[in-house]
Amino acid sequence: MQRSDFPAINRNLSIRVKIWLFFMMLICIVFILMWTFQVLFLGQFYEIMKVSSVARASGKLSDSYQTEMFTDNITDSAMKNDMCIEVIRNDGTEIGYQCVFSGNCLLHNGSNDLYFFFMDLQHSKNGEICRKLYNETMQTNMLVYGCPVYSENGEIDGYILTNTRLVPVQATRQIFQQITMIITVLLVIAGVILSAYAAENLGAPINRLNSSAQRLAQGDYTANFSGGGCAEVDELAETLSYANRELSKTDEMQRDLIANVSHDMRTPLTMMKAYAEMIRDLSGNNPVKREQHLNIIIEETDRLSLLVNDMLDLSKLESGTQKLELESIDISEKLCEIARRYEGISEKMGYHLEFTGDEPFRVRCDSGKIERVICNLLNNAINYTSKEDRRVFLRQINRPECVRIEISDKGDGIEEDKIKLIFDKYYRSENHKREVVGTGLGLSIVKAILKMHGCNYGVNSKLGEGSTFWFEMAAEPNSNE
Ligand code: ADP
Repeated sequence: MQRSDFPAINRNLSIRVKIWLFFMMLICIVFILMWTFQVLFLGQFYEIMKVSSVARASGKLSDSYQTEMFTDNITDSAMKNDMCIEVIRNDGTEIGYQCVFSGNCLLHNGSNDLYFFFMDLQHSKNGEICRKLYNETMQTNMLVYGCPVYSENGEIDGYILTNTRLVPVQATRQIFQQITMIITVLLVIAGVILSAYAAENLGAPINRLNSSAQRLAQGDYTANFSGGGCAEVDELAETLSYANRELSKTDEMQRDLIANVSHDMRTPLTMMKAYAEMIRDLSGNNPVKREQHLNIIIEETDRLSLLVNDMLDLSKLESGTQKLELESIDISEKLCEIARRYEGISEKMGYHLEFTGDEPFRVRCDSGKIERVICNLLNNAINYTSKEDRRVFLRQINRPECVRIEISDKGDGIEEDKIKLIFDKYYRSENHKREVVGTGLGLSIVKAILKMHGCNYGVNSKLGEGSTFWFEMAAEPNSNE
């Protein structure tokens, strides 16, 4: 099959292009976010940070109000935070101050501003103010912040007023913008390299898997599926390898099946044709011969219809179209009934059935199908038992959890390496004789039914001594106590 023979699909972009696009999108988002932050929010963000840092420093200072360190702390805090501080009692007397702007700040420039701030603070709701004002002398925006200090009994004793400079963000913004440009260029380069690397890492193993899968689709079961790149690709490779193994098994089975079926059908058909021709050409007028030949044709027809019926039954069982009709039965009663039936025809068929029963034992099963299992195994035992010792055995052995049913014969036994094959479809030993009526499907049907019931089953066999086929059925809950 050529590549063009594969069904046409709506082709998406390749993994390489997609990964590259995702990286580029990510870079765009980072770029847009950084740009928006600088252009729109840098000023606001700076002011918010400034207010919160001044409020924190003032709060710390207020906490140390009752301590001896308070005056030192005023100087310390002013230096560290680059802010002027003025601490005033409720009655207007000054407790301490520090000016870092050589008397040019809004608190210490000699104007009435300090008085107004103080009044505003006293009248404010929660004892706090925060204002952004323009300082004409210093030609810059400034932040004035005020908060209370408390006496030992928790009452407001006075206020801390601070004044700090708001540095214009324009210069900073320009620096940021240049940095953003450099970062963006670096990100694009890194994105291209990384996306190429990631695409190679992910795309190459997927492409390899794809070409192996195409070979598999063309029936080449030697195709090798190796993973790589990531866990999902490894998993896909494992799944495809599993599919490969299963497909090759199915293919082989299908070929065997066709070979076996055609062989098994051809033999009776050839016989029927040959005997029909003999009747036409030779024995047509000889009633005895004609009778013999017609009987052979009837036997071959029976053989053929047995084969076709078994094939149909097995395919129904294996495809799951035939469901179990479960019922509660006493298996010992069922075995007795089957044994009676076989004993009835044993003399005519030339075998001897020995049945060993046990106490009644209730199981839940499809009675008809379990009967088929027992009959198939008994038929095999009769067919394959020794010519000298024509005994076959049917045993029921009750166990606490289950009942074991054994069917034994005194035949040639089965070679050890063949034991695992006999339950396969159409398997027949090489020394299988044609007079032994069989389709090679009997044990496959047994296996399919026992598997449906969830029974354990198996065979013990010794060459020259005979075989024992067995299966175990679980006790029906609460019935055999
Ligand atoms: P068949 O129709 O050939 O009996 P089965 O599926 O029943 O098909 O059995 C498959 C093969 O297993 C038989 O051809 C035979 O070689 C072997 N086999 C089955 N039962 C016995 C047995 N009791 N003793 C020896 N060989 C057996």
